[in-house]
Amino acid sequence: MAKRDYYEVLGVERGASEADIKQAYRRLAMKYHPDRNPDDPKAEENFKEVKEAFEMLSDKQKRAAYDQFGHAGVDPSAGMGAGGFGGAGFGDIFDSVFGDIFGQGRGGNRAYRGADLRYDLEMTLEDAVAGTEIKIRVPTLVGCETCGGKGSRSGKAPDTCGTCGGAGQVRMQQGFFSVQQTCPKCRGAGKVISDPCGTCGGSGKTRGNKTISVKVPAGVDSGDRIRLSGEGEPGQNGGPPGDLYVNVVVKDHPIFAREDNDLRCEVPIDFVTAVLGGELEVPTLSGRVMLKIPPETQTGRMFRLRGKGVRSVRGGPVGDLICRVMVETPVNLNKDQKELLRKFGESLSGEGNTHSPRASSWLDGVKKFFEEMKFS
Ligand SMILES: [Zn+2]
Ligand SMILES: [Zn+2]
Repeated sequence: MAKRDYYEVLGVERGASEADIKQAYRRLAMKYHPDRNPDDPKAEENFKEVKEAFEMLSDKQKRAAYDQFGHAGVDPSAGMGAGGFGGAGFGDIFDSVFGDIFGQGRGGNRAYRGADLRYDLEMTLEDAVAGTEIKIRVPTLVGCETCGGKGSRSGKAPDTCGTCGGAGQVRMQQGFFSVQQTCPKCRGAGKVISDPCGTCGGSGKTRGNKTISVKVPAGVDSGDRIRLSGEGEPGQNGGPPGDLYVNVVVKDHPIFAREDNDLRCEVPIDFVTAVLGGELEVPTLSGRVMLKIPPETQTGRMFRLRGKGVRSVRGGPVGDLICRVMVETPVNLNKDQKELLRKFGESLSGEGNTHSPRASSWLDGVKKFFEEMKFS
């Protein structure tokens, strides 16, 4: 599927201001957010598309590159390779835009679901086809060791916020209007820590890593996604944790290229086998098989080995292995061998072009072309 233009995705003009872009993103992200559309997989796709468009267009450098070169100028997966995390995580960018709408931000007293995490997992074609289990390390929030997760230096419980009396919200009078706002002192938490821990700044959590074992089912392909429910960032104030999305990235294989459930490979054959026919050993992912080469086989001919492809992770029949043969011109011939070939060539001459049907029909075409040129 062709990638949509980022401006089109956000529904803004090419010259849109940063504020316009942010506003469009807010509106669309609210509309498509997976939490609001739990039963609609399309919404999640839309959400991802909107999020990517915003990530690109909200970054001055990336936007400039995109304006100049289009999608080729910005690669959203850049920096995410080799199983690392690049750029802002799913939660970070979402929170940075929405934190002020919800008025709470991190550390509020409302229960928040933890952020989802994304991880690009590279694997070999063999592992992707057969299935495997791979241990990965992902960043997470862990309880602060210094304060034991309490957030305060002394370990005493947080005090009720004096500014809002624990409500987390304050009323402000603005002319005729009374506006409710998040308490600026406790940022909505309702409680304040008088002696915050120096390590975690009062949150009770620090960044750490955890090791997770990912079971990769047989038949996955690049672009498939494995969701590990609850393995994302921990929730806040009793909220549930987010999910970890593991994106499958299958590395290039030296012999096979996967195309849906088929595998393709190129098989070089020597020209004597191509002429006289023969048998050839070819590799498959489940061992070697013999491939029969019929006499007079031309370069480019395809041979289909049924059932030697891949069974998709979604089930269905096993694909085929498609071998494309290439006739190889012999190299490093000695004097005697060259002499044999010369004699062979002489034996062909005088018999017309019966030994090279393609060349003769091509030559006929060339002749006709020149004849027509002359008379036009
Ligand atoms: Zn307060
Ligand atoms: Zn701490």
